[in-house]
Amino acid sequence: MTDTIKINIKPVTESRLSQIDFNHIDFGKVYSDHMFIADFYHGKWQDFRIEPYDMLSFTPGSAILHYGQSVFEGLKAYKNESGDVLVFRPEMNFKRINKSAQRMCIPEISKAIFMDGLTELLRLDKNWIPDLPNTSLYIRPYIFALDEYIGIKPSENYKFIIFTCPVGPYYSKPLKVKIEKEFSRAVHGGTGYAKAAGNYAGSLYPAKLAQEKGYDQLIWTDGASHQYIEEAGTMNIMFIKGNKLITAETGDTVLKGITRESVLTIAKEWGIEIEERSISVNEIIASLQKGEIKEAFGTGTAATIATIELIGDGEKDYMLPVPGPDSFSTKVFEELDNIKTGKKEDTNGWIYKI
Ligand SMILES: *Cc1c(COP(=O)(O)O)cnc(C)c1O
Repeated sequence: MTDTIKINIKPVTESRLSQIDFNHIDFGKVYSDHMFIADFYHGKWQDFRIEPYDMLSFTPGSAILHYGQSVFEGLKAYKNESGDVLVFRPEMNFKRINKSAQRMCIPEISKAIFMDGLTELLRLDKNWIPDLPNTSLYIRPYIFALDEYIGIKPSENYKFIIFTCPVGPYYSKPLKVKIEKEFSRAVHGGTGYAKAAGNYAGSLYPAKLAQEKGYDQLIWTDGASHQYIEEAGTMNIMFIKGNKLITAETGDTVLKGITRESVLTIAKEWGIEIEERSISVNEIIASLQKGEIKEAFGTGTAATIATIELIGDGEKDYMLPVPGPDSFSTKVFEELDNIKTGKKEDTNGWIYKI
């Protein structure tokens, strides 16, 4: 491939690594030594560099601060037993950040910028990848608008940054979720399929109201009728109903999760019957009442699989059985974990080894 970039590296004078207690890391609060940066100006991405993780400076007039023209990604790196760095499906994140960027009028980045930036950063901060059970290095690539201009138009200047955080489990216990029938996360024609910053700001208030009632997260329903189940918080949602795995189809209101796609691939390999289709709230409630729903869980990079133990609908709460060691969600979590950490052969070409 001719598409390569030159990266200037300015390493830290002293690593902060020795200050970190890897046995007690709060998700997203510990930042590795370095970050990768690229700038977009004069119509192209340039000035590729790796620098110490530090403050940024830009003007109060910067577009990102006012109108939220920004997109992001989330992926994870692991270490195998020989200490090699394994990244889970980074090319999918590369494709998706550009899909999100296109929706938000942000200039796309080349594969070399994404992959070479990521590769060099992980080479440098390799020792930040924890290897205790259920830990990994969370990777956050993002792009945001920088024009100093108070008016609505696509910016002409942007930054693309990748930084990383050693993390433990995202959720420490099974989730209580409430079916949301008033607020919407996404509507047809909207930005729901993009990992666009503003989508997440808009989801905070409805989630806060649910948390005040004792729930952890929301199950989002379609914005038009609130009768069909779409996602759970910032995860895709799946149910084991009888012997089938059912999940909402992706589209412009349901984000195309990489974990979702990976779980469906494994389920297919295991010969499990899969239905990707509209799932009505009525169907789920009726099935919960009949005890047909054996498992419900969210899928996403941060949590991988997040077990749902309770679903609230209006004034009524429905409990779900605790998944045992032979349940689908337990087994698929282990399978993915084994592939990601190199304990199991990667037959689908999901692992990018550095
Ligand atoms: C990121 C995200 C997901 C999960 O995607 P993964 O690629 O599995 O991490 C699902 N839904 C929403 C709204 C998201 O932002």
